[in-house]
Amino acid sequence: MSPGNTSDKQEHVADTVILGAGVIGASIAMQLAMRGQRVIVLERALAGSGSTGRAAGLLGQLRSTREATRMLVDGLEIVRDLERRTESHIFVQTGSLRVAQTPARAREIEEHVKLGREVGLPVEHIGREEVARLLPYMKVDDLLDACYCPTDGHLQPAELLAAYIAVAREHGARFIFNAPVEQVHVRGGRVAGVRAAGHRYDAGTVVNSTGPWSYLVTELAESRLPTAAIAHVYLTTTPSDAVVIDRHSPAVRDRENRIYSRPEAGGLIVGTYEAQPVEYDMEQLPADFDMASMRPRRDDLTVATLIDAASRRFPFIGPQTPMTITQGIMTFTPDGRPFCGPDAEIEGLFHASGFCGHGIVQSPTIGRIMAEWIVDGRPTYDVSEIEADRYADVPELADRATVKARCRRTYADYYGKVVAVDSA
Ligand SMILES: Cc1cc2nc3c(=O)[nH]c(=O)nc-3n(C[C@H](O)[C@H](O)[C@H](O)COP(=O)(O)OP(=O)(O)OC[C@H]3O[C@@H](n4cnc5c(N)ncnc54)[C@H](O)[C@@H]3O)c2cc1C
Repeated sequence: MSPGNTSDKQEHVADTVILGAGVIGASIAMQLAMRGQRVIVLERALAGSGSTGRAAGLLGQLRSTREATRMLVDGLEIVRDLERRTESHIFVQTGSLRVAQTPARAREIEEHVKLGREVGLPVEHIGREEVARLLPYMKVDDLLDACYCPTDGHLQPAELLAAYIAVAREHGARFIFNAPVEQVHVRGGRVAGVRAAGHRYDAGTVVNSTGPWSYLVTELAESRLPTAAIAHVYLTTTPSDAVVIDRHSPAVRDRENRIYSRPEAGGLIVGTYEAQPVEYDMEQLPADFDMASMRPRRDDLTVATLIDAASRRFPFIGPQTPMTITQGIMTFTPDGRPFCGPDAEIEGLFHASGFCGHGIVQSPTIGRIMAEWIVDGRPTYDVSEIEADRYADVPELADRATVKARCRRTYADYYGKVVAVDSA
């Protein structure tokens, strides 16, 4: 925290300064600029150089609560509008399946179908023969149940980010790259702006959307945000004539095997939420750390676990299968829900972080929610589950080791645990 440095170079003034140009910062910038705000986005490196550039982009609208599901359904409308505005192709509708091979997972599907119908999603149970018809390359003989939502698919993260930036710029937002924020200026408990790359940026509102770095940026304001940075991997098989993957074949979630999949350019993406996650201390990484430089080896334990889990559902995949491995870092929270809205301590400081592997698909509606919060004082959504200050009074979460342990558990349980669905 600093009251501002007189040696700072040129002063820039905005209504809102947004830190981080991933999908979240860019979406908020677009929504605020469309509401007439003067917006500056400051980015440490280049747009999409954090988690956004590594994401698979799966969009399954069915979540475990009605409000979370509604946010994703509405988000798709925002994406459709973006596609029209920018003449780009962001959403690929493939449909998606959840599969169950144990009675507990079958009950999970039953409850998801109930909730999906309550919120108007066209989700239905489908039998093994139909699953085999939709996904001829998938093992189906152990399935007890499956459900199919034809309106799901995936978002193309790079196209989505480019569209947010284009529309934000059309409405006057400025994006400044290679500008790592080094100080957050606070006066009398109120945020006054930031310093980045020697320049001062004055603003009454500062949004921290720095993904895995967000706990460090919060510390610059002498506040705290209990997030942790956790590695995640997926594989992408090389297209082959032996196993044809239709570009529009449905995404799959097989929670018992801890995997998800979707088609990608003639190959198949398969990712895992493994039981033994690996975490990163972002402060230990070089200042110019590039997430795209992460190159796990094929014999790395996490990669071996991923290939093994993938082969259980997709038998054509094995250690010798031609594939690429993508690794990146996600931002996790102790309860699996993001931190959005005002900081507990510093007036005018907002957070939008901790999207636990779902920031791409949540970004359209989160941008709207944050803009409503900043401009109107309150969002039109029920945000009680995602408020940024919900752990401010939990003293044990002032300890980084405890935060990291809780976030690791959330990641490990993410697919590992059977979910309680909040349907009526
Ligand atoms: C391998 C992998 C697969 C994934 N798959 C999916 C998926 O299928 N679906 C889905 O919805 N999500 C997925 N995610 C998660 C998704 O990528 C994230 O939730 C989302 O990108 C978060 O966006 P963000 O803008 O919050 O963070 P980021 O994209 O990380 O952006 C934060 C930005 O802040 C910048 N920054 C950091 N510190 C500073 C500073 N001091 N000053 C200025 N700028 C700073 C960084 O350089 C970065 O560009 C995946 C993630 C990974 C790693």
